[in-house]
This record gives sequence, structure tokens and C-alpha cells, in this order.
Amino acid sequence: MGDEAAIRCMRHCSNDYNIFFVNFPEFCPICKGQIKGSFLVLPPFCVPRPFVSSFQAPYSIVVKPTEGCFLKTYRSGHDLHIGLTSSKGLVYNYDESGVHMDNHLTWPVCIAVDILDILKGYSASVILKDWDKTLCEHSNKSEWTYDKYGPTLHNCYDFVLSFLKDILPGCQGFVGKDSFCNTHIIPRTTKAAQYIDLYRKVVDNGLFVSKANSPD
Ligand SMILES: [Zn+2]
Repeated sequence: MGDEAAIRCMRHCSNDYNIFFVNFPEFCPICKGQIKGSFLVLPPFCVPRPFVSSFQAPYSIVVKPTEGCFLKTYRSGHDLHIGLTSSKGLVYNYDESGVHMDNHLTWPVCIAVDILDILKGYSASVILKDWDKTLCEHSNKSEWTYDKYGPTLHNCYDFVLSFLKDILPGCQGFVGKDSFCNTHIIPRTTKAAQYIDLYRKVVDNGLFVSKANSPD
């Protein structure tokens, strides 16, 4: 997580308001009463974060902003970079300088999609059996050299989707770039955007209050 703050939530005197915070506040922003030692209608809990480090996500597809990071600089519409993790969480990814194998220091805050969530209905033992070997062979193919890279037609997404074809020959159902993004990536980046918005409000102000059951 690096220097990332954990966002927590509680309710003090009213079930109508969620109080989000990093450092436990002394006074309630609703009733202005002292919180410590008083009854809480909902005790503090950590807000689940939609991100992991690549190290925590073996056998996955991982996504992060091409430039900057999700929590600090990402805005909707920014380019995303996508890669595949080995059984040890090493990220294989393709860009204009060829295939890289990065560790979690390069992918500390990413969205991960477990491969078994994508390939539902297929046997885990079949998919995972030769995963690292297939990933290594796939990365060494001549079609993924730096000089063949194209920002839209032969990019990081093609590298990932082509690997899925390698791991499950004959399975064509997930290979379209647009349908893959619409089904597996956009729902997760949309959810992540809500967390990023909350994170920035809380970190910028030290505290953020929202009406319960309201998305913001
Ligand atoms: Zn209160």
C-alpha cells in the first residue's frame, strides 16, 4: 500500500450519515459531540479498497494507469495499461519497448481480475497447469517485439487476449477487445472510480460525511 491511507467509515449519533475518515475524529461532524467514549450506532470498519498489489494477485489480469497512479493522478478517460501475472505475481506486459516482467514495485496499486472469474466454466486445473510455462513462451514469441508494437492495433490488450487463446485453444468467446473491456474491465474501473473519489475527498479534508445509502 505504500503511503496510501486506509479509509474507514462509522456512524456516530445517526444512522442517516456515514462518517468517513483516516484519523479517528475527536468530534462528530453531525452533532458536534465528543466521539471517544460515546456510543456509536455503527462502529468503525475499513472501506474495502478495489486495488491490490500485483504480488497479491497471481494468475490474474492486472490493470493500472499508463501514466501515474489510480489514487493520486488518474482521471476517467486516461489510458490504462494491462498485463498478466504469473503464479508468483510477476507481471508480464507489452509496450513500445517490448515485453517486460515487472514486480509489485511497478504495479503496487492495480485492479486485478482473477483468470478463473473470466474463464468461468473451465477447469482450474486445465487453465493453471502450464500457466507460467505458457506465459513465458507467449512472451518470447516474435510478434511481441518492440518494433511490432502499435498503440491501438497491436498493444498490451492484444498481448493479454492472445495469451488467453494460447491457454485455452479453441475458446473464442472472450477474444474481442471491446467485449472483453465492457465485460471485465469497465465495471471494475467504474467501481474503482467511486473509491478514488471518496479517497480523495477524505484525504483532502481529513473527513467526509455522506448521507447513508447515497453513492456519494
Ligand atoms: Zn454525532
